[in-house]
Amino acid sequence: MGRHTEAVCRLCRRERDKLYLKGDRCFSDKCGVVRHAYPPGEHGQARQKFSEYGQQLREKQKARRIYGIKEKQFRRYFKEADRRRGVTGEILLQLLESRLDNVIFRLGLARSRAEARQLIVHGHYEVNGRKVDIPSYLVRAGDVVAVRENRKSKPVFKEIAETREQQGTPDWLEVDHEKLQGRILRIPMRDEIDVPVVEHLIVELYSR
Ligand code: SF4
Repeated sequence: MGRHTEAVCRLCRRERDKLYLKGDRCFSDKCGVVRHAYPPGEHGQARQKFSEYGQQLREKQKARRIYGIKEKQFRRYFKEADRRRGVTGEILLQLLESRLDNVIFRLGLARSRAEARQLIVHGHYEVNGRKVDIPSYLVRAGDVVAVRENRKSKPVFKEIAETREQQGTPDWLEVDHEKLQGRILRIPMRDEIDVPVVEHLIVELYSR
């Protein structure tokens, strides 16, 4: 995702929802949405009314921000979802959930998707025993994702372990905290994806 010069909590406040972009802080009462439950800026507390297009746009931006994806790449995911047979919005979310950075975050092997991205690029993880340093790598059912053996003693993984209990593991994943590894049991159905996104609005936006 393009780098944000504004504090990331402002992105959550803009969407009036927790997007979980900052790891531990998101689970504490220091969370920006908890402290300021209104959008940032001079007119943040004024009542906001969105047009139909505005609502669709906000929903798409929210999804992009949650998963940390640039517009061009997000549009590519939509095209792929549209090409596949099934409900486009659900397939879009399934593709996003299948990204390696998301899976590592969901497994609790990183505290945020942003941290997962950074650690992936630094070569700390493997999929099915082979190093993968591409955050957008799409996992499949049956894949095993793990911290690489020679990286397990890194202090960052001890720090991550200390905050792990705050975040549960979804049913479509299985995790072994001792071994720092997890398995993808299946690609999640929509009701297993707990993101506050109304995906059909995104489909409507791109279908205009
Ligand atoms: Fe900031 Fe996390 Fe709260 Fe969002 S959820 S406002 S990133 S602390």
